[in-house]
Amino acid sequence: MKYQVVIGLEVHTQLTTNTKIFCGCSTRFGAEPNSQTCPVCLGFPGALPVLNKKVVEYAIRAGLATNCSITKRNVFARKNYFYPDLPKGYQISQFDLPICQHGHLDIDIEGETRRIGITRIHMEEDAGKLVHADIPGVDDSCVDLNRACTPLLEIVSEPDMRSPDEAIAYLKKLHQIVMYLGICDGNLEEGSFRCDANVSLMPVGSSTFGTRAELKNINSFKFIKQAIEYEMERQAEILDEGGRIIQETRLFDPNTGTTRSMRGKEEAHDYRYFPDPDLVPIIISDEWIEEARGTLPELPEAKRARFMTDLALPEYDAEVLVASRELAQYFEDTFTLFPQAKTVSNWVMGEVTRALNDDGRSISDCPVTPALLADLLKLMEKGTISGKIAKTVFDEMYKSGKAPEKIVEEKGLVQVSDTGAIEAMIDEVLEKNPGQVAEYRGGKETLFGFFVGQVMRASKGKANPALVNEMLLKKLNG
Ligand code: ADP
Ligand code: MG
Ligand code: ZN
Repeated sequence: MKYQVVIGLEVHTQLTTNTKIFCGCSTRFGAEPNSQTCPVCLGFPGALPVLNKKVVEYAIRAGLATNCSITKRNVFARKNYFYPDLPKGYQISQFDLPICQHGHLDIDIEGETRRIGITRIHMEEDAGKLVHADIPGVDDSCVDLNRACTPLLEIVSEPDMRSPDEAIAYLKKLHQIVMYLGICDGNLEEGSFRCDANVSLMPVGSSTFGTRAELKNINSFKFIKQAIEYEMERQAEILDEGGRIIQETRLFDPNTGTTRSMRGKEEAHDYRYFPDPDLVPIIISDEWIEEARGTLPELPEAKRARFMTDLALPEYDAEVLVASRELAQYFEDTFTLFPQAKTVSNWVMGEVTRALNDDGRSISDCPVTPALLADLLKLMEKGTISGKIAKTVFDEMYKSGKAPEKIVEEKGLVQVSDTGAIEAMIDEVLEKNPGQVAEYRGGKETLFGFFVGQVMRASKGKANPALVNEMLLKKLNG
C-alpha cells in the first residue's frame, strides 16, 4: 500500500454511578422503557440539573490513570442540536475546558512501545435511545429516555495510531484501565464502552494528514478493526482514481463489513456551544486530586512489572494474569496461601481458566476459591496426590465445591508411596510382559515409558510416579 493510515479514536465510556449525572434517577440497564426518568432527564422546561459528585471523582481517576493534567476550573457547556431522543434540544457537555487534558497511554506493538497521546477527557450526559423494534400494531419508532442523562466520559485520542492493530491495542488498554478503576463496566454490547474511529490516509513519507472519515459507534473490537480496514481500502481506491475524500460521518454495517455515509461531518461551531447557565463552574482543589490519587488501584502495567520482578514470572504469564483485576486478585490470593508463583500461575492459566471458559463463568464466580486451590496444591506438594490426580480432584472440586481433602478421601485417591505395594505392581507387570522385558534388556530403552505406563495403570494413577521410575529402573537394570 502506498498510503499511510492515520487513526484517532473517540471513546465514550458509561460510568458505573448508581444515579444519573444531573438527577437522582437510576442508571440500571435493561429496565422497562421510560421507567427511570424524572422532569430533569425528560427535559421539562424549568427543571434544574444538579451535578453528581461521583462523576467528577471518576473523571479525575480516569485522568490520573492516563497521565493527564486535571483542569482546576471546569465549566459545563450546552451542545445544541435536535434529535428525537434529546428532549432538551441540547446535550450538557464540556467544551473548551474539559476536566482532563494532555495525557497518554503506552501500547506494546510487536515488542516496541508506542506512546499514544490523549487530547482530552470530558464529562457529559448521554442521550436517550430510539427503539425501532417491531412492537405489534406499532409502526412508529419509540423513544426510551432511561439512558438520557446517564454519565459519560468522552476520551479523545490524538491522531497517533498508524495501523488497525495499534488502534485495537490502544482500545484494549483503555478498556482494561477503566475496568480496573471500577468506573465503567466495560460492556461493549450494552454500549457501556463505544468507539468512534477517525480514519484518514496520506502518501507514505508525507507528514500532512489527509481528510478523515469518522466511523460511528462500533461496539466490538473485531468490528472496529474490520471497519478501519474497510475504510482504508475505500479511501485508497478514491485517492488512486485522483478523487478527494470528503469529511463525513459513516456507519459500519457488520453484516457486509462495509461502511456507508450517514451525514456530512458537523463542525464545533454548528453546535453553538455556550456555558450552561444552570450549572456553576466546578473548582477542583489539589486536595481533591490527591484524595482521588489515593483511591487508584495498582494499574495493570505496574502489576505486570511487579509480577515479573518480584515473583519472577515470565512476561507471558504476567500479561495473562493481569488481564482483569479480578483474575490478578485470584492469583495473588492463592499465591499468598501457596507461595510458589509459577505453580499457581500454571494452575490459574490452565485448569482454572479452562474450567471457567467451559461453562462461561467469570473468575469471581469460580467455585474453587483461592483457599481451596491452595489446599489442593499443598496436597500435591506433600505428595499425598500426584499432579495427574490433582487435575481429577480439581474437576470434582469445580463441580461440587467440596474441599480437596474430602474428595481425595472419599474417592480413595491418596498417592501410593508404599514401596512394597509398588514393587508388587512392578513385578506383576514385568511378569506379564516377558517379551518387552527381553527387548528392553537387549537395548531397546524406549520401552521404559511403556513399563511406567503399565504400572501407573495398574495403580489406577495413584502410584507415586517418581518412585515408580526409580524402582523400575533398578528392577530392569538389576
Ligand atoms: P469531533 O467531535 O468533531 O469528531 P474531536 O476533536 O472530538 O472532534 O475528535 C476528533 C478525532 O479525530 C480525534 O480523535 C483526532 O485524533 C482525530 N483526527 C483528527 N484529524 C484526523 C485525521 N486527519 N486523521 C485521522 N484522525 C484524525
Ligand atoms: Mg467525533
Ligand atoms: Zn431523572
